[in-house]
Amino acid sequence: MKGNIAIDGPAGAGKSTVARLLAARLGYLYIDTGAMYRALTWKALRQGISPDDSRRLVELAQETTIRLEDRGARDVAVYCDGEEVTTAIRQADISRQVSLVASVPGVRQRLVEFQREMAASNRVVMDGRDIGTWVLPRAPYKFFLTASLEERARRRHRELLAAGQSVELETIKEEIRQRDALDSGREVAPLKPAPDAIIIDTGQMTVEDVVARLLALIVANQ
Ligand code: C5P
Repeated sequence: MKGNIAIDGPAGAGKSTVARLLAARLGYLYIDTGAMYRALTWKALRQGISPDDSRRLVELAQETTIRLEDRGARDVAVYCDGEEVTTAIRQADISRQVSLVASVPGVRQRLVEFQREMAASNRVVMDGRDIGTWVLPRAPYKFFLTASLEERARRRHRELLAAGQSVELETIKEEIRQRDALDSGREVAPLKPAPDAIIIDTGQMTVEDVVARLLALIVANQ
């Protein structure tokens, strides 16, 4: 195997499940970069810092330690300054604000440093929005997972229902649409496929199908 694996794509395309399983299969470390932006957003909201206050957000990013603990195929535990926030960072208010926090260049600079350090000392599967284009532009394997907005909203809706949260499908669809627009439209490291990424539409595929497809592509390009 040649090295690190970058997986990007819009919200709800199945990146994190696929990346986690792929990493477990290959014995690589899985790094969920979205969880890092979410953890910082969680801390900002708890401290009453507005997601528009770039200056305070950059200071916050500099004084915050975020740690990811890969628990294999099961999940990734997320710690913010030593406090476990794995579940807290998935709440709807975080999902609504995270793209604003992630659009601040100084915040990204700090978190990207962390991400590159982790990739330099481990074999990683890293998922996010800018991994193939910006964080690890020399990664030998780059995938961009996507699916229609309708399908991605349906998946998220099913996940939330399974977790006991009842939210209207239309509300989820609108939130995902807004988040994608912010992530694709920002100036620094916007969501987009790297020129050398393989784009996969996961709309009609199961998680296992996607993992199998990625493994086959990786083996074919060793
Ligand atoms: O992957 P997830 O949906 O948890 O990411 C949450 C948010 O974090 C994204 O909508 C995006 O605003 C931000 N993000 C980012 N760059 C990454 C990963 C996530 O800007 N590499």
